[in-house]
Amino acid sequence: MPVETHCPYCALQCAMTLTPTTGGGVEVAPRDFPTNRGGLCQKGWTSATVLTSPDRLTTPLVRDAHGALTQASWEQAYERIVAGVRAAQQAAGKDAVAVFGGGGLTNEKSYTIGKFARAALGTSRIDYNGRFCMSSAAAAGGRAFGLDRGLPFPLADLGGAASVLLVGSNLAETMPPSVQHLAGVRRRGGLIVVDPRRSATAALTEDGGGIHLQPLPGADIVVLLGLLHLLVAAGDTDEGYLAGRVDGWAEVKASCALWWPERVERVTGIPTDELRAAARLFAAAAPGNGGAGAYLLTGRGAEQHAHGTDTVTAAINLALALGLVGRVGSGYGCVTGQGNGQGGREHGQKADQLPGYRKIDDPAARAHVAAVWGVEEEALPGAGLPAVELLDALGLPGGPSVLFVHGANPAVSGPDAGHVRERLAALDLLVVADFVLSETAQLADVVLPVPQWAEEEGTMTSLEGRVLRRRRAAASPPEVRDELQIWHDLAQLLGSPAHFETDPDRVMDELARASSGGVADYGGVAHGRLDGGEPVFWPCPDLDHPGTPRLFLDRFATPNGRARMVAVTPRPVDDDLRPDAPVHLITGRLLQHYQSGAQTRLVPELMRGEPRAFVQVHPVLAERLGVEEGADLRVTSSRGTVTAPARLSTDIRPDCVFVPFHFPGEQSVNLLTNPATDPISGMPEFKVCAVQVVPA
Ligand code: SF4
Repeated sequence: MPVETHCPYCALQCAMTLTPTTGGGVEVAPRDFPTNRGGLCQKGWTSATVLTSPDRLTTPLVRDAHGALTQASWEQAYERIVAGVRAAQQAAGKDAVAVFGGGGLTNEKSYTIGKFARAALGTSRIDYNGRFCMSSAAAAGGRAFGLDRGLPFPLADLGGAASVLLVGSNLAETMPPSVQHLAGVRRRGGLIVVDPRRSATAALTEDGGGIHLQPLPGADIVVLLGLLHLLVAAGDTDEGYLAGRVDGWAEVKASCALWWPERVERVTGIPTDELRAAARLFAAAAPGNGGAGAYLLTGRGAEQHAHGTDTVTAAINLALALGLVGRVGSGYGCVTGQGNGQGGREHGQKADQLPGYRKIDDPAARAHVAAVWGVEEEALPGAGLPAVELLDALGLPGGPSVLFVHGANPAVSGPDAGHVRERLAALDLLVVADFVLSETAQLADVVLPVPQWAEEEGTMTSLEGRVLRRRRAAASPPEVRDELQIWHDLAQLLGSPAHFETDPDRVMDELARASSGGVADYGGVAHGRLDGGEPVFWPCPDLDHPGTPRLFLDRFATPNGRARMVAVTPRPVDDDLRPDAPVHLITGRLLQHYQSGAQTRLVPELMRGEPRAFVQVHPVLAERLGVEEGADLRVTSSRGTVTAPARLSTDIRPDCVFVPFHFPGEQSVNLLTNPATDPISGMPEFKVCAVQVVPA
């Protein structure tokens, strides 16, 4: 029987139909849906390959006395885990055990992993890889609007816009079917892309009179302040909207006064006429100026900086100044990356949050969630540590000595990955649940084989805030065990006072109760309702509520209902150029691969397209270095070295190189990246650091 579900990878969650094949796998066919409109990218088309990959894990593995990972029974694996947890917590308290989750887990699993950490392990030490992806936009959105939902409007709304300004988002490569929604704006010549590289998305500006602004890495905030300066100077801001719906405009208006175009050009390298043209184009599209509508979208390029929350705040300020937010046909949004990047950050995986986006230090929130879990409120731990700090503390005195990793590969995806590997190696017990032997699983003491996307039931929340059903189309190998079952079993063995459901349908019912009344209210979400084909966007407080495709139309989710502008000041990148590191390193994704590449590197068709890392370098810089296409370059930061072949391209600035981050070992660009984090969001500065580049 064909089964309707969604792609395992990115947040676009393209709809697909899976038809079981005789070999135990499934055949993938795209399905029409408002986001992908019948499209899939190469990753989606080939996603079933991983289900039957010879490299997938089919039994638990336990590290033996000789240091080798060997096959074990589930009882042996559980025994090792329970003994390790008990020993660590008896010696050093509950926080001696930590949990690291992932933005690809279903909502049901994102919810249960948070409950497992707090109610079964009693630890505050839980965070997840979404801290690396969306946390700065979440912090900025929460601060400005009182609520963080990636797109507070359906993606299809972009179709009617006169202008779309994309800051640091390469959606043409990361989620190609989404480009269909830019067709209208490209035809109208209204697409503006801010990116230090002429990415596939930036190239889309060329066929219809759009604009590509190519600033120095880390200078997006200056571009945004410069644009706001020009809007103010031209009288293009929407004063009626600002007076009626926004606080903080006077301070923000004053803060952009110093960013006149010539000064912006000196800092960013963007010619004044290009900046002026972009400001004119974007302002004219705003409804307050008689335009048909304008959207401002940010991605990881804006966020992954030591001051990314401020950059996103500058983008939100610009959108508010033009009166775009909370208006049909215009808006601001963050393009979420991971498959369940949105739902994954709503249900309690974050160090300081309980389900429903509740704050863990809010007494009322604690009491509500404790009652749902059937535990004493005092038994719930307080806030833990954000991901980079958590990983940094592993194996150190006072830090966790046991770590559970679910749905993440921090040995490749963490900043300063060499240091992350050292900290993982210093643990007394590393437990990794995965379906492939990822680079993190290779370091583990216990590896637990878990199902893949087409073998599980649950829900995901897409970049639009739409809750989608993930459905089982294939059976897992017999010894594979679902995470919900694993957490249930371990909780029982550890004597947890809380009961853990194993049926995803029942978990969703519990999640609905736990999130009810919270910011991310799933009170009216249920599998049966979604199975009926009804699109449900949160917040959806009860079963009769239709859901909320468009947010903020009447009021913002702040206490007084008004959006909050916050004045921000540009700061230099944390690891800036110096004589022995005179080139900026930019990292990012490729069309063929997803995140750390643990899955997509198993797909031959994708590996044929991009089999290894490379260094994208401008011909001018290549000539200065004396290297030609294909010659190996050694790229060194103050944290490590990567060697990869040069790929010459005028798509990159001559003062930068670009290396994709999907590859492990000596090609892992995160050996070079900077673990400095944003003080508000805890997000690391993946996007830029200073490097030396020499022929290898
Ligand atoms: Fe769609 Fe993203 Fe899957 Fe590609 S990876 S098919 S864009 S959901």
